[in-house]
Amino acid sequence: MANRLTPLVAGNWKMNGLRADLAQVAAIRDAVAAGAVAGAEILVCPPATLLAAAAQLCAGTPVAIGGQDCSPDAYGAHTGDISAEMLKDAGASYVIVGHSERRIDHGESDARVAAKAAAALRAGLKVILCVGETEAERTAGQAEARVAAQLEQSLPPEQAAAGRLAVAYEPVWAIGTGVTPSPRDVVAMHGFLRQRLKTLLTDGEVVRLLYGGSVKPGNAAELLRSPDVNGALVGGASLKAAEFLAIAKAV
Ligand code: PGA
Repeated sequence: MANRLTPLVAGNWKMNGLRADLAQVAAIRDAVAAGAVAGAEILVCPPATLLAAAAQLCAGTPVAIGGQDCSPDAYGAHTGDISAEMLKDAGASYVIVGHSERRIDHGESDARVAAKAAAALRAGLKVILCVGETEAERTAGQAEARVAAQLEQSLPPEQAAAGRLAVAYEPVWAIGTGVTPSPRDVVAMHGFLRQRLKTLLTDGEVVRLLYGGSVKPGNAAELLRSPDVNGALVGGASLKAAEFLAIAKAV
């Protein structure tokens, strides 16, 4: 069952991209519309400043646009924050929550990530929830325990929402480093996460499990063509349309 989920290939631009880079979004849109990527759903998460323009470029096409974070609150006095409803209003259909860069840079707790995921689901968005261990945790043999705890405590309480939820396994030590876990380690962690999801959610088998961390055109096929790997969350290699599309074709 899990193998038959439509793979999701998501680009996380992080704090990169000016208006000129919308040309990359247009190139992705045109390639996807021309059928270059068969059988995978394509998502681009640009910085918030480009979100509405990117969504306009992709309106009515199969390319989805997402935010990189949202507030747990619906509105109000939270200077600099963006609510899930605002993302939706700008044309997003997805949002990433709990990325390790936000957990680390902004001290986001699992409880706050869960509240963000819940807010996003309430606003009608789909959610990519990120989990992943640090290098020290992996070396200490605590990778599974760490990831299980993060998953359990960061999941939104809405049981019915499994179909709108994806979980990205992103080992912190693999992000932006060029280092990846072995395909065997990815398969093992994804199998473990699938079991946890089935225990935690009534529909845990429909949650897509993405791998993220130094995914490139050269390693995508090996990393992503495994049971329980239902797509990828791509950072650096998503900034150029050609590289991102090469990854999407490999899935
Ligand atoms: P990377 O980032 O592909 O540049 O390693 C992945 C991510 O952080 O989502």
